[in-house]
Amino acid sequence: MSSHPHQFSRYCMHCGDRLTTAVPEGDSRRRLVCVGCGFVHYLNPRPVAGVLPVRADGSVLLVRRAIEPRIGTWVFPGGFMDLGETAEEAGVRETREEACLEVRNLELLDVYTRLEPGVVVIVYVAEAVGQAEAGDETTEVGWFAPDAIPWDDLSFDTTHAALHAWIERFVPGQ
Ligand SMILES: [Zn+2]
Repeated sequence: MSSHPHQFSRYCMHCGDRLTTAVPEGDSRRRLVCVGCGFVHYLNPRPVAGVLPVRADGSVLLVRRAIEPRIGTWVFPGGFMDLGETAEEAGVRETREEACLEVRNLELLDVYTRLEPGVVVIVYVAEAVGQAEAGDETTEVGWFAPDAIPWDDLSFDTTHAALHAWIERFVPGQ
């Protein structure tokens, strides 16, 4: 996640005219509306797919962020979905890009809504295949046993929540 997901043009994507805010007919909220052609530019949350890759020894992979926001902290691999791919495919791709790691047997862990900056984070647990190393946007990869998670050094609320959910639901004896 390198930039705010809701930076948008001040100009209409169809005719190039200026945008203003107005409540369209039949709507109940103010929207960005083109003064020229009347096109309504809806702003919606953007989906992010993430994966908790788990190794046979029961440890989970986290990557250390090389970019803002929250540079230097630990997070699971994840990022914005591209058009044309499923959430699972996006999670597999992001894990490959950020941790050079293959994952399989994805299982949905949970879905988290972050009102600010307006994203929906879909988190899977998956089986890690092979070795990991730092990739795009990461300086380091680490495998953490459930009792050795760096709780004070995690990137986001969702990182915290997903790791808690993983321990509760997937770690035997919890
Ligand atoms: Zn327009």
